[in-house]
Amino acid sequence: MKTALVTGSARGIGLATTKLFLEEGWQVVMVDRDGEELLATAESLDNVHPIVADVSDPEAVADLFKEVEERFGGLDALVNNAGVADFGPIEETDFARWRRVMETNLDGVFLMSQEAIPALKKNKGSIVNIASISGLRASTLRVAYGTSKAAVIHLTKQQAAELGEYGIRANCVCPGPVRTKLAMAVHTQDIIDAYHDAIPLNRYGSEAEIGSVIVFLCSDKATYVTGQIVAADGGFESTGVGLPALRK
Ligand code: NAD
Repeated sequence: MKTALVTGSARGIGLATTKLFLEEGWQVVMVDRDGEELLATAESLDNVHPIVADVSDPEAVADLFKEVEERFGGLDALVNNAGVADFGPIEETDFARWRRVMETNLDGVFLMSQEAIPALKKNKGSIVNIASISGLRASTLRVAYGTSKAAVIHLTKQQAAELGEYGIRANCVCPGPVRTKLAMAVHTQDIIDAYHDAIPLNRYGSEAEIGSVIVFLCSDKATYVTGQIVAADGGFESTGVGLPALRK
């Protein structure tokens, strides 16, 4: 049985991805810092192994990989999905706010991937990092969030360049807007309407529509795909239908 580790899997995109892996016959190590939600969710699923950990804490990450190695040996996929969103103007983004975003969204991806290398080497596994359309296109209020996600996009290419030697692939998925707890905390009705105007498919995506791209990239159907940045965003990034007046 193949083994995936999905961070931020207590809810949202990470949980949907976990369920899709299970449907494909994988077992999943579910990692989240929200212990209460993680353990309650994991209880209702078979073939999952929950570990409560903060991906931005180097010691916690080292400990969790000791547990993974003892229990599973190798790893077939690492999905760095845990993320936080905090939108605000540059002038109101103090260093503490900047660090809060960077430590999960960027440091977490670096730390988890670094510690996963021995386990990924064993199984010639792959990494999928979750960035965002905010990392592809700069926009207002995203100085910390957008910059962290742009860095994740580059980190993915760095990983693909260096880890290919070991047969380890690294790809990145950039979701467009999905109605998760993370998004709803920062998307006002105005933002929701504006996204509808700017997205060719004219709607938000679902968690499973992001998860299926992630699972595909980890699967045997994508064994020659590495270093790629895939936007699952209803067409937002690649198009210019953003002027509402032109759509009417
Ligand atoms: P969510 O808030 O529903 O879920 C995120 C999960 O990550 C939560 O369970 C949370 O406890 C966990 N988490 C956060 N920080 C952590 C840490 N340091 N250590 C361990 N666990 C941590 O969010 P979501 O919308 O499902 O987001 C998943 C990913 O998708 C994030 O990286 C996010 O930036 C990205 N994304 C989301 C959207 C969207 O519209 N929802 C759009 C683009 C990108």
